[in-house]
Amino acid sequence: MHLVMIGGSDAGISAALRARELDPAAEVTVVAADAYPNFSICGIPYYVSGEVTHWRDLAHRTSADLEATGMRLRLDTTARRIDAGARKLLVTGPDGAEDVLGYDKLIVGTGAVPIRPPIGGLTGPAALGPDDGVHLLHSMGDTFAVMRTLETTAPATVVIVGAGYIGLEMADALTTRGLSVTQMEQLSEVLPTVDPALGVLVHAELESHGVQVCTGTTARQITRAAPGDSAPLRVDATAADGTAVSRAADMVLVVVGVRPDTGLAASAGATLGFKNAITVDRQMHTNLPDVFAAGDCVITHHRLLGETYLPLGTTAHKQGRVAGENALGGQREFAGSLGTQVVKIFDQAAARTGLRDHEATAAGFDPVTIESQADDHKAYYPGSHRITMRVTGDRTAGRLLGMQLFGHRNAEIAKRIDIAAAAIFHGMTVDAVSDLDLSYTPPLGSPWEAVQMGAQAWVRATQRP
Ligand SMILES: Cc1cc2nc3c(=O)[nH]c(=O)nc-3n(C[C@H](O)[C@H](O)[C@H](O)COP(=O)(O)OP(=O)(O)OC[C@H]3O[C@@H](n4cnc5c(N)ncnc54)[C@H](O)[C@@H]3O)c2cc1C
Repeated sequence: MHLVMIGGSDAGISAALRARELDPAAEVTVVAADAYPNFSICGIPYYVSGEVTHWRDLAHRTSADLEATGMRLRLDTTARRIDAGARKLLVTGPDGAEDVLGYDKLIVGTGAVPIRPPIGGLTGPAALGPDDGVHLLHSMGDTFAVMRTLETTAPATVVIVGAGYIGLEMADALTTRGLSVTQMEQLSEVLPTVDPALGVLVHAELESHGVQVCTGTTARQITRAAPGDSAPLRVDATAADGTAVSRAADMVLVVVGVRPDTGLAASAGATLGFKNAITVDRQMHTNLPDVFAAGDCVITHHRLLGETYLPLGTTAHKQGRVAGENALGGQREFAGSLGTQVVKIFDQAAARTGLRDHEATAAGFDPVTIESQADDHKAYYPGSHRITMRVTGDRTAGRLLGMQLFGHRNAEIAKRIDIAAAAIFHGMTVDAVSDLDLSYTPPLGSPWEAVQMGAQAWVRATQRP
């Protein structure tokens, strides 16, 4: 049995590891376009900030660790064509030479590529790029380009276009490095994946660390500045009321999301679905014989929404593991995502799982969202922090649909959102969250855990008189 994985990131390596774990006799080859297999690209902001001191430390496992599991790595090797009928993969190696790999099962884990929005100066033959200090950010290659700009031109100012979670992490990272950061976001509040009521708290945290936040501001043009200007680049934008906004900068970072990288699979005949991601079933089969796919290149099965596209590392790992198991003949199903995510912004953290009010309405629920606050541990013990919670439940069925949290980075925001994720995963009602047997000691919690207090606030506000 020869399994071939295309892509050496979360999905491809998870598939390869699972296959080798289940069948040490399986021949497993990972074809990776770059030389950085199993790198934690989620950690890029912390390398840029200097908190992670060497890029090699971002490796989940070294190449030697991976090869020790018995998989074969073909690095700097790009998959060019899949012949699904003949079960052959055409690749080009580091020297450009073509090679054909036969396979029994193929797993496509080509991931996503950063979106290049229609901003003047970013596209076309004269587009500005890393050598001009204008960057997109997704891969280790992008990271090295950012670090070259930081180390060789010592920029003092940066404009970050986009205030999603990566934009926020980079605002934190570049401020930590000593740059003066302007963040532009075309929507009305930062971190649009949470409700504006929490976005506004994130916004305040950014400003309290010196980030100039321009919300409702759409970047239109990036240009090289004229001689005599204060910085080599200029970003021209339009505010929501139509006024022109212009910022000079030494560096520009554009982080406005990703799109699935599906060209290879699509040209082999793979069906594409939501957001042009590869259509897979829950066992991660594509429509092509003996071809599986996983990670940021595929549609996401969501437990409450059905098919969507939610590119996340946690999901890519799980889907890859399922694909690796099933490529060996298993019947495992990807249980589905809830879009659980958390982001640290300076000293605070924001997290969400499940659905927000408008998403739940669109999915046919009858949602109501109640905001409340609770302490992360007993306030009489030093160092306690208030957590702001937004609990979304179905008014009719009482089912917990979603939760959003904001609070201090030491307030266990990530693990608290995971309580909610586990409850939603198992279809619990909001009321039943109070029944969970959760831990307590005053320095670390309360007899009623904060998430349970949020659930009780929801029940109080929604119970019929
Ligand atoms: C800065 C940053 C921070 C993030 N933080 C988080 C986080 O905190 N939490 C979270 O859950 N997620 C986070 N993510 C998202 C997470 O990293 C991705 O969801 C995850 O890496 C997807 O894994 P993947 O294997 O599907 O695809 P990718 O990581 O995109 O990898 C695909 C790989 O396939 C290779 N490839 C593509 N085409 C070919 C080809 N033809 N031949 C050979 N190789 C090919 C590419 O070179 C690439 O290495 C972050 C992403 C970034 C960029």
